[in-house]
Amino acid sequence: MKIIKSKAEIQNISTTLLQSKKSIGFVPTMGYFHDGHLSLMKKAKKENDIVIISIFVNPLQFGPTEDYEEYPRDEEHDMTLAKQIGVDYLFKPDVEDIYPEEMMIKMSVTERTNVLCGRSRPGHFDGVITVLAKLFNIVQPTQVYFGMKDAQQVAIVDALISNLNFPIKLNALATIREDNGLAMSSRNVNLTMKEREQAIWLHKSLKRGQQLIVDGEKNPVIIKKEVINTLKQNIDADIDYVDILEFPSLQTISTISGQIIIAAAIYFKRTRLIDNLILDNDGLVLDRLD
Ligand code: AMP
Repeated sequence: MKIIKSKAEIQNISTTLLQSKKSIGFVPTMGYFHDGHLSLMKKAKKENDIVIISIFVNPLQFGPTEDYEEYPRDEEHDMTLAKQIGVDYLFKPDVEDIYPEEMMIKMSVTERTNVLCGRSRPGHFDGVITVLAKLFNIVQPTQVYFGMKDAQQVAIVDALISNLNFPIKLNALATIREDNGLAMSSRNVNLTMKEREQAIWLHKSLKRGQQLIVDGEKNPVIIKKEVINTLKQNIDADIDYVDILEFPSLQTISTISGQIIIAAAIYFKRTRLIDNLILDNDGLVLDRLD
């Protein structure tokens, strides 16, 4: 695996690869790898000639009171894992390389952002699409791989790619979980033992909502109430949101039909956790969105 810091260098490498008709699978990350990240890299490896990943903790997508400084980092460990999977290039730019000067053009998301994490984290998705537009132009991937753990991000990247005509195929892959159901996240390392035990109820409460749908419940208000009650009974954390929306439009729905997302976010002391289930008409979990 080659480690590249310079954006000009990785851009040249990609240009040469594309000229020789190689496909490039790209996995953008903020590092501190777990099996969720690795599943994306493995899939990219299977489906492309060359795999490029990036590690960049993007300051633009963190709010002023959020955990940019505290975000966990361990590049040595990340490099070992990526190498084992057979990643060809790791792009690891410095903040000054990605943001050398004040931007003269600002990007902002206008749809799919006024709900869920977008509502709780103003400006977050503007930061996400800004860095991704830059990374897509630098790396020039054929396909990109994202996790459905961050389902709203998938919905917004889908809009970014189609609105700005990036010639890129978006792949959204299933959330990888611990055996107890907790969605893997770099931020889990900041949970206390007690919080970690309680955190499994995030997934369990969403599953409770799913069960209602499987049993035929069509009213999102009733399902939401059940998810909130389950959370309140089992978790000592503030609930940021619980919502049920159409996916990927993220429009409000008055009855369960079509493809939907049940999503929740909670705040423990230091750590905010999110999780979701994307379900089809019958309440069955969708594992991959193409
Ligand atoms: P991050 O490093 O948190 O920016 O995540 C990089 C990519 O990994 C994003 O596309 C995430 O959605 C994805 N990802 C994070 N956690 C998981 C998980 N538990 N399962 C699958 N993908 C994940």
